[in-house]
Amino acid sequence: MPSPSALKGTSLILLLTGCVDQKFRRCPPLATTSVIIVFHNEAWSTLLRTVYSVLHTTPAILLKEIILVDDASTEEHLKEKLEQYVKQLQVVRVVRQEERKGLITARLLGASVAQAEVLTFLDAHCECFHGWLEPLLARIAEDKTVVVSPDIVTIDLNTFEFAKPVQRGRVHSRGNFDWSLTFGWETLPPHEKQRRKDETYPIKSPTFAGGLFSISKSYFEHIGTYDNQMEIWGGENVEMSFRVWQCGGQLEIIPCSVVGHVFRTKSPHTFPKGTSVIARNQVRLAEVWMDSYKKIFYRRNLQAAKMAQEKSFGDISERLQLREQLHCHNFSWYLHNVYPEMFVPDLTPTFYGAIKNLGTNQCLDVGENNRGGKPLIMYSCHGLGGNQYFEYTTQRDLRHNIAKQLCLHVSKGALGLRSCHFTGKNSQVPKDEEWELAQDQLIRNSGSGTCLTSQDKNPAMAPCNPNDPHQLWLFV
Ligand code: UDP
Ligand code: MN
Repeated sequence: MPSPSALKGTSLILLLTGCVDQKFRRCPPLATTSVIIVFHNEAWSTLLRTVYSVLHTTPAILLKEIILVDDASTEEHLKEKLEQYVKQLQVVRVVRQEERKGLITARLLGASVAQAEVLTFLDAHCECFHGWLEPLLARIAEDKTVVVSPDIVTIDLNTFEFAKPVQRGRVHSRGNFDWSLTFGWETLPPHEKQRRKDETYPIKSPTFAGGLFSISKSYFEHIGTYDNQMEIWGGENVEMSFRVWQCGGQLEIIPCSVVGHVFRTKSPHTFPKGTSVIARNQVRLAEVWMDSYKKIFYRRNLQAAKMAQEKSFGDISERLQLREQLHCHNFSWYLHNVYPEMFVPDLTPTFYGAIKNLGTNQCLDVGENNRGGKPLIMYSCHGLGGNQYFEYTTQRDLRHNIAKQLCLHVSKGALGLRSCHFTGKNSQVPKDEEWELAQDQLIRNSGSGTCLTSQDKNPAMAPCNPNDPHQLWLFV
């Protein structure tokens, strides 16, 4: 590990200055770690780049071993050739999951053979930056109920360069989730900025990305490792996030630990049993951790709702037992205490689903990638939710709220979609976002007094006329 002064001179200034000055205890030394890297058909170059970056940046005294867990790859270079190659690296070994079962059980296999006190998981296409490990281990040494992630920096998908950080006023983000249970990033709320004494301070995060993190091995076991019936990919990070917080632990991002990761735009993996395993993983986590809030998820993912109804998500009794044993908080506690900024939609909205027009038999649809601002369209009713999902709420706004909270509004006579003004706290629904759903099946905007209609196959506003079938709508 180069000295701090050498680091200050590096052209690759990824570290905050406060981090360069940090010192870590030598006596007694920090606990050692086993680095566990799971992979399925990873390229030779990216896998070895990950391995070498760990070897080059980790003090030998802290690195017990690197365990490469092969999730039944089919690529020839990952078989005998890899095993032979890593032998010369001494602390690196390969273990194999015979059957393709996915990253969750692969990580569990790695953890089961790991010998160090701390487990550090990495994806197979990462690059660790100087000094990445010490701050993670030091935080766990302070409190082993903290599950720590590095600050994950983007490695460019095409050039493999580290993304250039914004040096001053670097914007930190933390993990969140939306009500389709998709993980995302968001900027820190004011209270979290205030809580942190300086820029090196850990960031508390409601969820974590889940690919790159360190955890005390005994705490990993105490807190219930993973749900080993989750398959292939997806949902396990949200599951672990809820579980850690609800059962007394914490998730933190350590800004002084910097690791690059190649973010891809679409999944490169095959799904032997189809992509429905993602929904199945999500249903398992919703059933165990989310109490009645799971309904909010199910309304947004009808495939998941069907699995839940048919109980075709496998046995979760062991996970429910774990929740019981650990005396975990409920999901409402999590929302109030860990993620109070999260907007909680109605548990039981007045109406929800697709809004079907009786004149055209088509459904109101937000169109592709509409995050507000784009015009709405009329489209064949597909019954999948998605772009045709709306809720009429108890405060009388009409929301398309799968990922963001987007509201129908009328401005200058035209229908539009924008971020909702009602966010729960100290806010009100403006008249142009308020709607009346009357017995006569008209959808009337309170501000303009006009009614929603389907005009030339496009949604629009018109003077209300209950005799015009194009102005009559039904939630289906
Ligand atoms: N992975 C695996 N088996 C699978 C899918 C993924 O072993 O069925 C590995 C993959 O090679 C990677 C890690 O799990 O090292 C995380 O997957 P990925 O990078 O695709 O997830 P992302 O970073 O895109 O969320
Ligand atoms: Mn990845």
